Amino acid sequence: MKRKMKRVLCVLLSMILIMGLVACSKKGSPANTEVQDQTGSETNEGESLSAYKAGTYKATTKGHNGDLTLEVEFSNDSIVAIKILEHVESAGISDPALERIPEEIVSGQTLNVDTITGATISSKAILAAIEDCVSQAGGNVEALKTKESSQNHSKEETEMTTDVVVIGAGGAGLAAAASAKQHGAEVIVLEKLAMIGGSTGLSGGGISATGTKFQEAEGIEDTKESWMELWKERQATSNPNGKYPDYAAVDKFMDEAVITTEWLVDYVGHEYVSIQGFGLDPVRRLHFAFSDKSTKGGTTLVKSVESFILGKDVKILTETPATELITDNEGNVIGVIAEGKDGKIKINAKKVILAAGGFAKSEELLERFIPAAAGSAELSAAAAGSTGDGILMAEKVGAALYEEPWVIGLGIGSKVAGTGALGMDWTKVYVNEKGERFTSEEIHYAIATNKIMEQEASWLILDSAEINADVVKTLEAAMPTDEVVKAESIKELGEAMGVPVDTFVNTMQTFQEGVETGQDAMGKHKDYLVPVTTSPYYAVKIYPKTMGTFAGVKTDENYSVLREDGTIINNLYAVGENANKVLYNQVYMSGSAVQFAMTSGRLAGEHAAKNLK
Ligand SMILES: Cc1cc2nc3c(=O)[nH]c(=O)nc-3n(C[C@H](O)[C@H](O)[C@H](O)COP(=O)(O)OP(=O)(O)OC[C@H]3O[C@@H](n4cnc5c(N)ncnc54)[C@H](O)[C@@H]3O)c2cc1C
Repeated sequence: MKRKMKRVLCVLLSMILIMGLVACSKKGSPANTEVQDQTGSETNEGESLSAYKAGTYKATTKGHNGDLTLEVEFSNDSIVAIKILEHVESAGISDPALERIPEEIVSGQTLNVDTITGATISSKAILAAIEDCVSQAGGNVEALKTKESSQNHSKEETEMTTDVVVIGAGGAGLAAAASAKQHGAEVIVLEKLAMIGGSTGLSGGGISATGTKFQEAEGIEDTKESWMELWKERQATSNPNGKYPDYAAVDKFMDEAVITTEWLVDYVGHEYVSIQGFGLDPVRRLHFAFSDKSTKGGTTLVKSVESFILGKDVKILTETPATELITDNEGNVIGVIAEGKDGKIKINAKKVILAAGGFAKSEELLERFIPAAAGSAELSAAAAGSTGDGILMAEKVGAALYEEPWVIGLGIGSKVAGTGALGMDWTKVYVNEKGERFTSEEIHYAIATNKIMEQEASWLILDSAEINADVVKTLEAAMPTDEVVKAESIKELGEAMGVPVDTFVNTMQTFQEGVETGQDAMGKHKDYLVPVTTSPYYAVKIYPKTMGTFAGVKTDENYSVLREDGTIINNLYAVGENANKVLYNQVYMSGSAVQFAMTSGRLAGEHAAKNLK
């Protein structure tokens, strides 16, 4: 009897509840009507995760290069569609974020989605705009940020077989794939990140070569000898007894660079929009691809090769990092293990080409290989995938590593966001921890990086003159910060910096005298001598800025990887930043690193395809 009463009470209570809900929904407040979302998950308070005021909402946030606007359409209980309306994000680099994040949010009905490595700023901007729309629609942003996706991925192991596997879809890897395909091989390219391109895609994409038919067509007189002379002069600026470059290899590279520059146009379908000099290198030998606000020249170059190889049925597997090389009992490489989106992949291959870039983004490897550059990973402009994977995989199967690895310098950097323009601004003054200038600021950016690395601490000095208005605004917005000090006089600035004040005052006085006479104590050209006399004064901490590494594994001239005893590891090649130290001591030559990536990739791809067994 008691049980019967209980059941009746339950039914009655349920009816009251249901009626209450219906009544609420009739009052037309969708945010309160739904109890459960599609997956049935609830917040702690029992409130629905997926209750919205149906409609379409718009939001604008700041992306990597400027404003990003999107709209989100909601029904009463779900996120129906997300449309990116306007943006100036970097083409190629931000594409996976622009496509994938909206896709995953709609399919998973959650805001708990990962940012895309390598496109973090764009990812965050997209997520912030979508969250704004969810708020406008009355949704529960915080709860959606922790909600499990309703899409489940089951992982399983797969096996594939091909002629050539290329590890890394940057310049070297794409060129290797194009060339291997050209010479008859079946090719699979593995790329760790969601987007292809690596540092090549972030670069200006200018490739240097001397005596090309494109230079000739524009009447540019240039010779290999003049490039070689400059090469030797620059490499002599530091580490005078360095073991590299191997000038025979540089000489061969210069010849092959001409062939690559023409091959990219004639065979791959790439296009140069201009041939230019750069900074202190006035000779017009950098062959540049199209670029604009949202497209870097490097991205255009990458896209050219990508469209070529996709047109030839080469597979590019993104978000599929290679993790290990497979060898047989004799140490010959016979394939690769990779971690795919849907599980482990074993790829059997006749040849493997390592093109996984350098390690400028790995603090651990910088500490191991280039202690002088420890701490530089955070500010490095290199692509996110530059963590040395290829070098480590090769080392594991017995490859010899190049001695004396170094960073590819990109001038100086500051930790204050928005001060990138200071990077190559020769009008400013650099001083070290002793309060002294240590270089003319008018130097090649790679040498500037090296000079900063030689100091214990470095500062960039500027004043409040009109030409500095923008940067001063940025610094003021960032203050207070440990990265900037400000003072009303040079003496007080020295005190705030913690450098020997008398020396610093003397340094700045000497600099000022140079400005007035046009004769700089450090030899800077008078065009870059600008007074530092308008208070308040600022000192910004500066650090070495890098864009890659000169390192990798030793190879022969076909880019076959060598053991310490000089024997070849059969079937294994290394190209680009996986094997570039041979050309350099410690100084990057403008336009040579992308050129080396494309050239070494082209040659290794051809050799691999012609030697399939
Ligand atoms: C901002 C910037 C500007 C530059 N400007 C110039 C310039 O103007 N001229 C010039 O000559 N040089 C320039 N450089 C240097 C030059 O771009 C690089 O040295 C060169 O492009 C490197 O090519 P790469 O193919 O070896 O490596 P990357 O282009 O970095 O490609 C390596 C690829 O391998 C992928 N990868 C890494 N690990 C794995 C793994 N385990 N499995 C699968 N894939 C993996 C990476 O994600 C990446 O996509 C610049 C570099 C930067 C960052």
